[in-house]
Amino acid sequence: MNYHDIKHDDMNNGPGLRVTLFVSGCDHYCKNCQNPETWDTKSGILFDTTAVDEIFDQLDKDYISGITFSGGDPLNKNNRLIVCDLIKCIRRKYKNTKSIWIYTGYTWEEIIEEAWPILTAILEDTDVIVDGTFEENLADINYHWAGSTNQRVIDVQRSIEDKKIVLYED
Ligand code: SF4
Repeated sequence: MNYHDIKHDDMNNGPGLRVTLFVSGCDHYCKNCQNPETWDTKSGILFDTTAVDEIFDQLDKDYISGITFSGGDPLNKNNRLIVCDLIKCIRRKYKNTKSIWIYTGYTWEEIIEEAWPILTAILEDTDVIVDGTFEENLADINYHWAGSTNQRVIDVQRSIEDKKIVLYED
């Protein structure tokens, strides 16, 4: 997996101050995507142990609320395995003290229907998924945590438990 950026003290992609990983690779090609340079899986730089250490150094700080995976698409087929491994390591180390958010161009329904074991494993340890492509005609700068109103900020664990989409509440 390649990535473009690890943003420190990020306030725009989930609650509190977070570390946000912008991965490479997205095949949704939304019109007016803010990060088209991330679409190519070969763009950016290799996600190596230095990048992993940087993320854990950030998460070690008490004031960091959690990690957000963005991109690109963290659930792009090229990224799922490494994203899953990283999520599992984070959960093992920090238990539930750090929240895990994922932004993806896939809808919740597509993720559930695809039912790949790796996706199920990712969902097991994810707190929130912001789903769906960016739709320019539904763009709303006042919509909290997402770019367009078709995208939903989903409480993953409650949605799995209730077998229907439950939206995240601050
Ligand atoms: S899913 Fe996100 S990264 Fe991918 S094209 Fe759409 S807005 Fe851009």
